Amino acid sequence: MHDSTSQMTRSTPAQFLPGVGPSRALRLEKLGLRTAGDLLFCFPRNYEFPAPPERIDRIREGQPVSLVGTIVDAELVSRSPGKSVFGAVVQNDTGAVRILFFNQPFRAEQLTFDRQVMISGEPKLNGLRFEFVHPKVTFLDEEDEIESPKILPIYPLTDGVKQNEMRRIISAVVEQLAPDLTEVLPVELRDRATELVRDVGIDLRQPLPDIETAMKHIHWPPDKDQLRAARSRLAFQELLVMQLAMAIRRRRLTTNLQSSSMPSDPLLDARITNRFPFELTGDQVAAIKEISRDMARQFPMNRLLQGDVGSGKTVVAIYAMMLAVGHGNQAVLMAPTEVLARQHYQTLSRILDCSRVRVGLLCGSLGAAEKREVLRHTASGEIDLLVGTQALLHGLEFKSLGLCVIDEQHKFGVGQRVRLRGGGIDPHYLVMSATPIPRSVAMTIFGDTDLTTIKEKPPGRGVVKTYLGRDEWRRRWWEFVRGQLKEGRQAFVVAPRVSASQDTTASSDEASEDVSSVETIFDQLRDDVFAGYNVGLLHGRLSAEEKTQIMQQFSEGEIDVLVSTTVIEVGIDVPNATVMTIMGAERFGLAQLHQLRGRVSRGNHTGHVCVFTDGNQSPEENERLKVFESTNDGFELAEADFKMRGPGEIFSSKQSGMPSMMIADVIEDLDLLQAARTMAQEMVDEDPELESESLADLKKQLMRRYERQLDLSDVA
Ligand code: ADP
Ligand code: MG
Repeated sequence: MHDSTSQMTRSTPAQFLPGVGPSRALRLEKLGLRTAGDLLFCFPRNYEFPAPPERIDRIREGQPVSLVGTIVDAELVSRSPGKSVFGAVVQNDTGAVRILFFNQPFRAEQLTFDRQVMISGEPKLNGLRFEFVHPKVTFLDEEDEIESPKILPIYPLTDGVKQNEMRRIISAVVEQLAPDLTEVLPVELRDRATELVRDVGIDLRQPLPDIETAMKHIHWPPDKDQLRAARSRLAFQELLVMQLAMAIRRRRLTTNLQSSSMPSDPLLDARITNRFPFELTGDQVAAIKEISRDMARQFPMNRLLQGDVGSGKTVVAIYAMMLAVGHGNQAVLMAPTEVLARQHYQTLSRILDCSRVRVGLLCGSLGAAEKREVLRHTASGEIDLLVGTQALLHGLEFKSLGLCVIDEQHKFGVGQRVRLRGGGIDPHYLVMSATPIPRSVAMTIFGDTDLTTIKEKPPGRGVVKTYLGRDEWRRRWWEFVRGQLKEGRQAFVVAPRVSASQDTTASSDEASEDVSSVETIFDQLRDDVFAGYNVGLLHGRLSAEEKTQIMQQFSEGEIDVLVSTTVIEVGIDVPNATVMTIMGAERFGLAQLHQLRGRVSRGNHTGHVCVFTDGNQSPEENERLKVFESTNDGFELAEADFKMRGPGEIFSSKQSGMPSMMIADVIEDLDLLQAARTMAQEMVDEDPELESESLADLKKQLMRRYERQLDLSDVA
């Protein structure tokens, strides 16, 4: 027989633990619990809280209850030496009961008039009043005597192991092992953590406890406050370790590389901003400040600029590009589609009209000779600013590339970023996204990237109204759209597919026959609803030239109604377009719907979006569409989407990059995550590689968990 308790360690096999034995050990193994350490870290999945005090008018004879009330009447009667009865009445606004103690005269001193007590026991009816003989009494007006009923842990179970057996086994392990746990958070760190956790609004009644206390209280919480403190401490630690790894990685990613320093100065700043035909918004100015600070450094900026559609990110990017050019370097702007690349090219050419800055465009529809020329001028440095589609920019040669801007990188995905080098230096990187990233994602998957957020919209923006369209409203809605056209506005009609016969992966889908397609809708609308107006058709199967031509006609007002697939989703800027109809809306994701809606909030007219669905489900029955209607704030939508679908669906699980957590939950514990991130950044700013002696244990834990993520050999 193995004498376990005296020398139990975390690696002691479960079978040798008190109360386990070989057969129970086999059952525990089904839960993945093989050692004492596994049991120590097998946290309760929930708790059983003591029932709240019962109302007096609800108690029933013989059923144990707890009651809270005030002593209103008390009397000690001595019958003979050593024999006494103490009786009192406990009352609250639901009634009164009587309590009795035999031969305990000291009760008369404790249970005096007007004291607040909780009593627990079994009521007996005596006449019209319930009576408790020798109930358990807790004084509620004398704090340190409170001995409230216990909160019980609820553990995951497996066949043949009962809840209270599990409680007994784990309790013995915790008793033995909790005192030996390594404290990775010295008290100064815990105190700072407590401040930060309170700053994010978590109601901590006491400081985050040490590891031994936290471990004991997570298993057997004395009360709710201490449970919250214990859980916060353990979750915070887990998140802090992750955020430290991120912060170190963020630092290492950039400090080992060489970029050219391109600080802004008042003169340069004035020269750039004078070229903008409007005042920058506060958020734009703040974003520019952060970016200029990054670009002044000798290691690359690695920043994500996120802002809702139309928030004016492009202007910020143009500033950064001009800063690079002002320092004699080149800059490149990569767009996801040719339509967008051309639009950016035009914007830049307009802003830089009559300046010495030379702007180039590289896209698929250029002739071979033109392309060669652009490549040559890029390599020789004759082109200062190059705009192009992402696909064409791989392996491009630059004379001296100082900045690389990637527009509308809204597909989540790590490591698929293009890396360009030019002139022997590493360019600064600015990635722009109009799909707001949920905060938890920004702090985990994008945790190694710096983040700037633009929330404020440029002034004079019209609002967008969103409607959930019922089928029977279709006629009226089209009438409304015609009304807008009469006033000189333009309209979008968006559908999920190009043609009705189009093959899809969901070919078994019985609804696929009546799925909205742009071709059918185009035919119907042109000849009927919008007869007499100019209706255009745009989709991804058209050639690049055709697409560009149609977009051009739409933005010049020659086309009144554009029927389109989501080709128009990204970046298109036509301020006069104010109405959008989305067909088959249930087929679009929230982010995509919001992107689409952004197309009609560009000018200073009110925008209108109406969504219709295919099949039997009306828009009101669709959770996603209801959320879409309820808010216009892209950040709120992103959070809602993330909560509805969870990380698993948005990111394929393997490359998700969402670290798995034992106790913390990156969605539920968002505030803790924020606090952990702040603290990690502070710590790494002060001690970049965490070399201080007091952090040795923390660092060890970090390396054990995140060594692979910190190995940057694959990045360089
Ligand atoms: P985003 O790329 O964030 O979707 P853009 O940079 O394309 O947004 O800006 C949207 C529109 O707003 C453009 O027409 C742009 O010229 C205009 N704009 C940007 N910043 C301002 C500003 N500070 N004041 C007025 N208009 C602005
Ligand atoms: Mg844009």
